[in-house]
Amino acid sequence: MMVRLSAAQSCPISGGLRPDSSRWLALAAFSLTLALMGPKPAYANGNHTHIGISLMAIDLLPEGDLKALVSDPALRPMLINGTIFPDGGYAVSHPYGETAHWEPYQRKLVARVRAGCPVPMATLECRQKFAFLLGMASHGMADQVFDALYMDAAKKHDAANWSDELLLGFDTSTDVLWVAERGGIEAPALWLPMTELLATFAEVGLKVEATTLEDGQTVLLLIVLGYGNSAGKDPKKVAAAKERYPWGAAHLLDPHTPGSPPSEAKVVASYWRQLWSEWAEGAQPGLEVLATLPSQGGGGLAADKADPASTVAIVLSRGIEAASVQDSALELVVGGTVVPGDRNLFYGQDSHVLRLRPKAAWPSGEVTLRWAAGGLKSFDGHSLGKSGQVSVAVGPATAVEPGLPPPGWSLSPPPTKGVGGDGGGDDGGGCQASPARGASATGRSAWALLAMALAGLWLWPRMGSRDAAIAP
Ligand SMILES: [Zn+2]
Repeated sequence: MMVRLSAAQSCPISGGLRPDSSRWLALAAFSLTLALMGPKPAYANGNHTHIGISLMAIDLLPEGDLKALVSDPALRPMLINGTIFPDGGYAVSHPYGETAHWEPYQRKLVARVRAGCPVPMATLECRQKFAFLLGMASHGMADQVFDALYMDAAKKHDAANWSDELLLGFDTSTDVLWVAERGGIEAPALWLPMTELLATFAEVGLKVEATTLEDGQTVLLLIVLGYGNSAGKDPKKVAAAKERYPWGAAHLLDPHTPGSPPSEAKVVASYWRQLWSEWAEGAQPGLEVLATLPSQGGGGLAADKADPASTVAIVLSRGIEAASVQDSALELVVGGTVVPGDRNLFYGQDSHVLRLRPKAAWPSGEVTLRWAAGGLKSFDGHSLGKSGQVSVAVGPATAVEPGLPPPGWSLSPPPTKGVGGDGGGDDGGGCQASPARGASATGRSAWALLAMALAGLWLWPRMGSRDAAIAP
């Protein structure tokens, strides 16, 4: 088993964790069943890829307090835990996963955490929670951008051997390819802001237990990341993934392909800046266009509607109220004339990615997308603050990468005060090496790790046999 547990601090999580071998053996058995026979969870980006996107987004942030905060190595385990957290619900077949992907939950969670962490964030615990929240935000946004653009294109280009099976699906396969190219992530210690997570699930009317959240997170940390680390180093599995998804494999690291992880990272960085501005200033900037794909001055639009590359997408800073997506809110202009287009709010209510395609084909030349102030509304009542536009070329690609903010993006630079806290006087509320109850570095009992190890021993050879063959 390739998973290695970090020796970093293990933060006790609210509610505690008691050694319970029967529960963990049951969890291990469930994981096996899921992998071998069960339905395929909808992971979208694989979780190594999700983490990679969050780490790339850090590099894309402008120098300043936000970048300094989220670059802190002490916060990396929390950023990673938050980045994978939403998929834990799928891993244990509980609806908390789906809920955790979306802003109606995430915004309430942000408000709850912020209420206990006034600016400046003087304690390490507050900064840890903020890093976790950034990770969650990265995950939800990345899934939408990836699915709306990259996976949508791959479904056409790689249709011949497309699979929805757990270990052969596009998400798992691209995650294997990501690890092969970029390296995998060692699982950090489990860390969850449990009190706030549970209170916010209760606030939105979802019943879930702390043990369920711990179970989901543990499956992600040990089984899902462990599989990626193992398969990404296995030449046979890497070759099989490339053979099954040749287009997806060839463009995965291409920053010019809309929806690829490098373009997702740009969107996530913009989203983080928006969230940071709101957090640090206590302001509500309202609704903005975070990014467009292609970017202003970019190109590579295909003319034919049937080609996924004909899509112009805009990404909004808050989840959108579907009923507000009217033709009058977004105009497509070619040669000074408004032309008809199809509008699609990908994933519908509360989602951020709005796709536009021609009714039949784009005329040659340049397509301009205009949006009107007040023309779109978020799920929580914010209106688009100002009008704007981007122009992109039909035809050959340009050097401008997709995923950049539009001209005149109004978000102010991140504030320069109130970050970093006391420089070590507060240890974050007891986030120290976990000593109690015979717990391991993950805070789990030895029984739990034994169960996971047994699961791994069962899982690995069977994973190898399942993706050995690709339909010709
Ligand atoms: Zn997801």
